[in-house]
Amino acid sequence: MIQKNRPERIRKLCLVLGDQLWLQNPALSNLDPTQDCVLMIEAPGEATAVWSHKQRIAVFLSAMRHFCNELHAAGLPVVYVRLDDRPEASFAERLQALLAELNPSQLHVCEPGEWAMRRGIEAACLAQNVVLQIHRDTHFMCSADEFAAWAEGRKELRMEFFYREMRRKHGVLMDGKNPQGGQWNFDADNRRAYPKTGPGNITPPQRFSPDRITTEVLALVEHRFASHPGSTASFAWPVTREQGLTALQSFINTRLANFGDTQDAMWTNTPFGWHSLLSVALNLHLITPLEVVQAAERAYRERGLSLAAVEGFIRQVIGWREFIRGVYWLYPSLKTDNHYNHQRALPAWYWSGKTHMACMRDCVGQTLEHGYAHHIQRLMVTGQFALLAEIAPAQVADWYLAVYVDAVEWVELPNVAGMTLYANGGKFTSKPYIASGAYIKRQSNYCGQCKYNPEQRGGESACPVTTLYWNFLDKHQATLAANPRTSLMANSIRRLSEDERAAIRAHADKLLNGLDKL
Ligand code: FAD
Ligand code: SF4
Repeated sequence: MIQKNRPERIRKLCLVLGDQLWLQNPALSNLDPTQDCVLMIEAPGEATAVWSHKQRIAVFLSAMRHFCNELHAAGLPVVYVRLDDRPEASFAERLQALLAELNPSQLHVCEPGEWAMRRGIEAACLAQNVVLQIHRDTHFMCSADEFAAWAEGRKELRMEFFYREMRRKHGVLMDGKNPQGGQWNFDADNRRAYPKTGPGNITPPQRFSPDRITTEVLALVEHRFASHPGSTASFAWPVTREQGLTALQSFINTRLANFGDTQDAMWTNTPFGWHSLLSVALNLHLITPLEVVQAAERAYRERGLSLAAVEGFIRQVIGWREFIRGVYWLYPSLKTDNHYNHQRALPAWYWSGKTHMACMRDCVGQTLEHGYAHHIQRLMVTGQFALLAEIAPAQVADWYLAVYVDAVEWVELPNVAGMTLYANGGKFTSKPYIASGAYIKRQSNYCGQCKYNPEQRGGESACPVTTLYWNFLDKHQATLAANPRTSLMANSIRRLSEDERAAIRAHADKLLNGLDKL
């Protein structure tokens, strides 16, 4: 345990969580170094609650250790508990033991990013009779309360309407009272595949060679969590604010102009495309959404970047990201929701990439290599397969929380359970996101390297995505028909004869009962 400048008797203990690493953290406000002290806790339970990717563990540990040094440099007193400093494994147990030992009168913390962490902190304070003050997380541009007020009384929660409010409220890409360019959303311009010849020369994203602290952390992770999935070899994530800002500027200068066009495109050995890779720096709070959005808007106004590219990117940050956080706190049941009552086990190849399906092989493969996949890979490849294959939502959510370097529950769970698996019955999405193998063929080069045929839904070489898609339509025809956004899909299955539908069901059953062999 590292204790620097710790006051003899602690009045306020200011707990800084591993994903809230910025000096404006409200838990640090009005800190008096003569009687208050910062507390940071590494806990092995955080790495093992789900079977975390090695790079995910390393991102948190390295960023926390760097931030501890920043606090020292700012002259603040810090108690920093390292992974192996104490016997307790879980974060909450460690916190409770530390409260007993340090005996503060109050604990201050910024709103945690997950329900379980919040409850654990509350229970520890209650058990030790310490007054707890939870501060609003000012990193976000919309508070949980503001979001709940916006959602109140609405029949449907749609990101698009929330996004327009955010644009108006924060004056982002506005021309007086109207959206810049007379249009709120340029999504229709952002769905192209790469040309048949491939993605061409993509300017590589800014990456960061591990420094001394990160190198130590990587060795620790390789040793301590040797059996965990993934590799640390390619680790190059930003772990300090300075690196986060460099990554942001580099993206704006060299990649944003091309972001929108091929946002939904996939290609083998092209793990990052033109994406920003900013989710890690954002989710650790190294950089703020406001500075990201302002930097993008400046590029539009001062450097003439296309409105479609800039709007498409800004929508992800103040639209999707803030919306997703709002719904996480609005729907505490997301973790257990299971609208379709799916109960199958996650196939083992989600952890190895060893499958004959080229699309899954590539997306899982790059996930294991980098801890990263872009949105369409997560939504329409690994995610929609889990939906079509009827995997239990809790198992899918655990996988996503484990394997991505940017995974924190407030953002992972609504994306997985709500958006991808439709596990809460569409409370904030308009339809289940499903497509046959033909969609993957259109958006990528995967199918050309696959033993299956995306156009075939029956027989040995039928694409499992396609068969299971038609099986899904067959099973849920009535509800899909009742939704204007999916009624066309329902029509397409209705047009098939009963014999054709029976053949789809029989082949799907075979696949569903042998998912591990695909
Ligand atoms: P870009 O494509 O460059 O987008 C820019 C930024 O917009 C991202 O950095 C991110 O902060 C934000 N953003 C974009 N889409 C979303 C979204 N749907 N929800 C929230 N923020 C969004 N994102 C996470 O940060 N952590 C997760 O654990 C996570 N799990 C996901 C699981 C599934 C099944 C799906 C479909 C999406 C998930 N996302 C998650 C959202 C999104 O896929 C990632 O934010 C994005 O791929 C990160 O890469 P990037 O920074 O290059 O993003
Ligand atoms: Fe994926 Fe089917 Fe295409 Fe193979 S054929 S890559 S399984 S969509």
